[in-house]
Amino acid sequence: MQAGDGETLSSKKERRGLKIILDAMLGHLLSWFRILGYDTTYWPSGENDDSLIKEASSSNRVIITRDNLLFQKASRQGMRCVYLPTYDTVEALAYLVKALGIEVRFDEDETRCPECNEKLTKISVNPKRWRCGGCGKEYWIGGHWRNISRILEEVRRRVEQA
Ligand SMILES: [Zn+2]
Repeated sequence: MQAGDGETLSSKKERRGLKIILDAMLGHLLSWFRILGYDTTYWPSGENDDSLIKEASSSNRVIITRDNLLFQKASRQGMRCVYLPTYDTVEALAYLVKALGIEVRFDEDETRCPECNEKLTKISVNPKRWRCGGCGKEYWIGGHWRNISRILEEVRRRVEQA
């Protein structure tokens, strides 16, 4: 991401302290939250609701789900939980900007590994490269970046319009 692409100094200082757990139906959102710098895990299907709620509670994560029964159960137990009304990535992220105040700007110092959730370490400034301390994978701003950038742009537009 280049300067002038909406990144400001103040947004760099914002903390991304929110921790997230996604239910099994929302795996397509996992890498988005990680790229945006949120510590995010994914609960595989086949595990029951109670163990998800227990995990969310012990690791202090907000539950994001498309499962209404899980939502009700977790809410009754006082868990922080968001019922997502859509599967669509842009709509979902825009919804969560409102519901949780998530930040949809890429922060190159906060971004996490889409594969394993570890924070990335910048290993080169020009060209920009990062390495994951968890799995060792390296990342750079390549052709796929255009797509990521376009979707985040769309999310911000959606939020402004609403
Ligand atoms: Zn990794």
